[in-house]
Amino acid sequence: MSWLGSEVALGALGAVAALLVPCAVAFGFMLRSLRLTRRSRALLERRYRHVLKHMDETLVVADRATGQILDANEASLRTLGYGIAELCEFPLRHIYLGLDLGEATEGAVHRCRMRARDGGLFEVELTVAQVVDEARQLVCIVGRDLSSRQQAEARLRASEERLTRVLESDELTGLASRAGFQCRLQERLASTEGLHLFHIDLDHFRSVNDVHGRDFGDQVLVAVARNLRAAFGPQVLLARLGADEFALACGGAGRNALRRQVHRIRKAVGRELTVGEHAVTLAASIGIAVYPQDGVNVEILQKRADMALYEAKDAGRDTCRRFVPDLAARLCEKFEIEQELRRAIDTPQIHVEYQPVIDLQTGLLVSFEALVRWDHPVLGSVAPERFVAAAEEGGSIVHLGERVVRDVVRQLRHWADEGALCVPVAVNVSPLQIERSAFSRFVHELLQQHRVDARWLSFEITESAWLQDSDRHIAAMDRLRSGGSRIFIDDFGTGFSNLAYLKSLPVDVLKIDRAFVCGMAGDANDAAIVESIIRMATQLRLRVVAEGVESAAIAEQLRAMGCHYGQGHYFSKPMRAEQCKALLVQLQATRRGVDRARPANQTSTAVTDLAVRHRLGSRRVTAVANEGG
Ligand code: C2E
Ligand code: CA
Ligand code: CA
Repeated sequence: MSWLGSEVALGALGAVAALLVPCAVAFGFMLRSLRLTRRSRALLERRYRHVLKHMDETLVVADRATGQILDANEASLRTLGYGIAELCEFPLRHIYLGLDLGEATEGAVHRCRMRARDGGLFEVELTVAQVVDEARQLVCIVGRDLSSRQQAEARLRASEERLTRVLESDELTGLASRAGFQCRLQERLASTEGLHLFHIDLDHFRSVNDVHGRDFGDQVLVAVARNLRAAFGPQVLLARLGADEFALACGGAGRNALRRQVHRIRKAVGRELTVGEHAVTLAASIGIAVYPQDGVNVEILQKRADMALYEAKDAGRDTCRRFVPDLAARLCEKFEIEQELRRAIDTPQIHVEYQPVIDLQTGLLVSFEALVRWDHPVLGSVAPERFVAAAEEGGSIVHLGERVVRDVVRQLRHWADEGALCVPVAVNVSPLQIERSAFSRFVHELLQQHRVDARWLSFEITESAWLQDSDRHIAAMDRLRSGGSRIFIDDFGTGFSNLAYLKSLPVDVLKIDRAFVCGMAGDANDAAIVESIIRMATQLRLRVVAEGVESAAIAEQLRAMGCHYGQGHYFSKPMRAEQCKALLVQLQATRRGVDRARPANQTSTAVTDLAVRHRLGSRRVTAVANEGG
């Protein structure tokens, strides 16, 4: 671009400034009137040329008297489609339609149309600056292409809208997404006096995916969304917050309204769903926060509905909880417990106790379950129920679980070194241990290091954990099992397993949850459940342990049902390793007696043979331990 002189460059800059920032017009004039030295002028000119060359605005310089175009910047040539020589053949009026230089006020923003080489017209916004160049009067016209700006703005708006739609809606179910829900809830709060917020989490949804596949799971989610929408109508805010979590906000005040809404949610979620050949019936855990009592903005309400939801899950799922202020305190306590536990794991505050498991048919001790104990210097003895869940949530269960396995393996070595007979010990394994560590390798190395046979170490993993990430758990348990360990399903009956699923698991023993066993005394239903679990497990060639046996009557009832083993306070509470030692010594003596009484060719390796003989109802294991000690 050949510039006519520094005056033009400065004038042009004034016009640009005016177009971009109207109040900067004055700046252009000020610059012109500045007295600059020759050198600084040349420097300044170079800089301005650089700016003008690279700016997006069109800039045309013309003779004011004749209207002839004298010069133009790159943006003008680009926009109009002319070469510089070609353009300079035209008068201004050929390019700027409807621009009257006589009327154009300097510094003001005018609108007109520009004509391109191909005849195309486009809207521009322009400013005119007068420049005196030695003898001539020049005008400098800076224009901004409005049509391309409008198009760009429209494109931007459209893509923003598209993005908002994507972000604010859930593709699978068509409900609002988390972001969309938050937005709309915010608006709703501004215009309501009372509102109930529900966070709804489908119970054990993962197992639906595991058993029937992801596509099936997706269709189930769509059906749940549809049922919720049908139950509450189009006005209610409904969203899928993530995987299998939904949120619902509906107006209302008072307990009765709340109760009715909860009932409606549970009914909608609990409706039997048929997808293809399969039918499933779901349940949900529900957390509730009420506006304005539990929070006055979206963030607090959601956080509190979440806390209430955790509480509902903790309470065994398929239930609902409303936020109460105490809940925040309890969660805080959980956090503090976990912090305290982290510091305690490698100290003597942690130890392991062992609870005997008895063969119900013969009355012999067959194994122990290892249970972790924590004696805190200030809190005293902290119940595992209190700290195991906190450790699972906070992640320290991995470290704690390793500590327990290490203690148990060392103990087995110790008993063996002392010449005591061993029985297998089962340790509880949390799903996180399998997810976060190479658990089977850790176990394998530990057993090798202490020269302990894998047969003496068993693993209990809860039914619900099996359902969480079955592939991973199955692979890990498979490895442990092929090493010689036995695998238990713990707390059976609380989860969602079906028979077909159970068959596919690498499992040897099933432990019936103590809630059913304790319930047998007063509830015929529980007794029927226990009996059918025993029958089913036996058909699958699994051994069955009943947990929580608290009386002779229950022990006898279980024995009559064909249950193999029992564990519970009736036989013995969990005991210190030293007390177990006494039992094992007793066991050895009993075994010698058994061996003497047995014909020489009848040698058995059954676990029951490595046991303390114990008659149901007459003597408890603790009594045997005392006698032995
Ligand atoms: P669990 O695996 O179901 O363990 C059995 C629980 O039932 C133990 O509670 C035991 O003391 C208790 N129990 C035994 N017999 C009876 C009875 O006749 N009546 C009643 N009411 N209870 C009985 P504990 O020791 O408090 O452990 C609670 C839970 O903590 C365990 O349930 C297990 O889930 C977890 N836990 C304990 N130790 C460990 C561990 O080392 N690792 C992991 N991951 N979890 C553990
Ligand atoms: Ca257990
Ligand atoms: Ca259990």
